[in-house]
Amino acid sequence: MADLGSMTLPELRETLKAEGLPDYRAAQIFDWLQKRGIADWDEATNLSKALRERLRAEHPIFSCTAERKQVSRDGTVKYLFRLHDGECVESVLLRYEHGYSLCVSSQAGCARGCAFCASTVGGCRRNLSAAEILGQIHAVQRDLHIRIGHTVLMGMGEPLDNLSAVLRFLALAVDENGLNISGRHISLSTCGVVPGISKLAELKLGLTLSVSLHAPDDELRSSLMPVNREYPLGELIPVCRGYALITGRRVSFEYALLRGVNDSPAQARQLALLLRGFPAHVNLIPVNSASRGGFSPPAPGVTAAFRETLEKAGAAATIRRTLGQDIDAACGQLRNHAPPPAS
Ligand code: SAH
Repeated sequence: MADLGSMTLPELRETLKAEGLPDYRAAQIFDWLQKRGIADWDEATNLSKALRERLRAEHPIFSCTAERKQVSRDGTVKYLFRLHDGECVESVLLRYEHGYSLCVSSQAGCARGCAFCASTVGGCRRNLSAAEILGQIHAVQRDLHIRIGHTVLMGMGEPLDNLSAVLRFLALAVDENGLNISGRHISLSTCGVVPGISKLAELKLGLTLSVSLHAPDDELRSSLMPVNREYPLGELIPVCRGYALITGRRVSFEYALLRGVNDSPAQARQLALLLRGFPAHVNLIPVNSASRGGFSPPAPGVTAAFRETLEKAGAAATIRRTLGQDIDAACGQLRNHAPPPAS
């Protein structure tokens, strides 16, 4: 069964043509699926009842159903979405001065096994389709009657382990007849899957690439992030350099500060050295205290000192404001099952 919600307009035209529908129907259906994000064919009021019934039977809409919604003290909203086969993912809506940004999930779970991240507990249950990644944005826009102008692939899952669906998602999200999100307003975060980064560079998509680094040397990085054994720093950093060179975009590096593990001044200097010579930016995230693995955030003052050491050694760095911590919506706190109801 072809998933119409994951198709570009030319693909949709082709598919529907083979099913005997004219081009203008494809344009109407694209509009309903991609711009308005309908969850049921009955909402598509300019299609005949017979056509809606046929579409329902032949092309079910794989939308995301909000099963739980939590609002943080800081205004961050976390959604737990149920997918058509019962799997769950979470999305987090962040409010900034420049507008709304939705952090979306690309997989139910994650196979990468980072020591500090809750999303990986239980492994990767399955990849999401492009329609399911887009569906998270549609569901939130419709629920809150807002327009989401920014999106970050930083929720649950490793986007580059689901590359074909993610590339489809990117193509559809920027479509001016769909969500019409500017490519400059999209970020993708990876734990460092080198071939995927090369592919993104080759495609010159104009999005912001974030790479989760978390350690300045192979030994420590491998102990925190199993992906480093497959793609060590000697391969990762050159591919990031290449990405910056080819796309002309600065690469962003996430560095979760773990007390006593990766937060020393020597490690800050080593990190700056590693990133020398190409446009890079370090995003420091004091690890969330509720994180997996029993890690603690740095002692008071250490985060600011780490940033200063980085800057002195020539690396641009900012400290990421942590949002939504009280509802477990912060980085590394998303999981693929419903938490027990709050008492
Ligand atoms: N798989 C992708 C997307 C996840 S994005 C990636 O690894 O980049 C989520 C970001 O939050 C990543 O940088 C991840 O390493 C980071 N993170 C995970 N657990 C965290 C925690 N407990 N505290 C702070 N950041 C965490």
